[in-house]
Amino acid sequence: MMKIDVLTLFPEMFAGVFGHSILKKAAEKGAVDYNVVNFRDYADNKHQTVDDYPYGGGAGMVLKPQPIFDAAADLKSKSPESSPRIILLCPQGERYNQKKAEELADEEHLIFICGHYEGYDERIRKYLITDEISIGDYVLTGGELGAMVVIDSVVRLLPGVLGSEESHIQDSFSTGLLEHPHYTRPAEFRGMQVPEVLLSGNHRLIEEWRVKESLRRTFTRRPDLLKDADLSKDQEKWLAEIAKQQE
Ligand code: SAM
Repeated sequence: MMKIDVLTLFPEMFAGVFGHSILKKAAEKGAVDYNVVNFRDYADNKHQTVDDYPYGGGAGMVLKPQPIFDAAADLKSKSPESSPRIILLCPQGERYNQKKAEELADEEHLIFICGHYEGYDERIRKYLITDEISIGDYVLTGGELGAMVVIDSVVRLLPGVLGSEESHIQDSFSTGLLEHPHYTRPAEFRGMQVPEVLLSGNHRLIEEWRVKESLRRTFTRRPDLLKDADLSKDQEKWLAEIAKQQE
């Protein structure tokens, strides 16, 4: 079972995400154990202050190192057999992607640190954490939404969490490409048709259509993904045809 600890000043924010849908079911199935901790509880001063003014002056408050170091040490001591990845959510971190989600899904224990205010005391970054993750080139008010994004994308990869019908193997990025389009009933909706081949019952042709559409989508929307994609001879041929059609 994967253990996930979250250090935050706003633990209530996680109740919605961990208490619904696939993330909730994952915990019920025993694939993951969530533990959300308010690191204010670890502040060693009378008023449980977790932030302070920046040295050198300037706007905004900075998270103090003591509550976060002590909270992380306590969580580590509760799972002495594991060596957790300690992940700082931060707009300056490594940009998050599916490859990183797959890497984290192989771990036994993840500790997420959600920042707030202007940021963290730099010693947290330098001496405590193993990973620094950004969920994109924009600035959020806090790390909670970032932690939720990362946790959601990791938990759905854990064995047994998705049924075979919802398998992640074909998902965009897992294959190195964007996924093909989907259609469901009815075959005709307000004059809009489902592609004929999907109604044919011919599994070989359907699979070929899906691969081609996946290539087409990737070529038109995310051509950057194609340079690292491991394509078969057929796929390379189809891609060349698609490129020609777009000229
Ligand atoms: N002053 C910081 C800077 O310019 O890099 C931004 C601090 S931001 C207002 C407060 C917190 O939100 C950060 O410490 C981090 O935990 C979280 N955060 C903001 N943007 C994020 C992003 N793109 N990815 C992950 N976490 C983010």
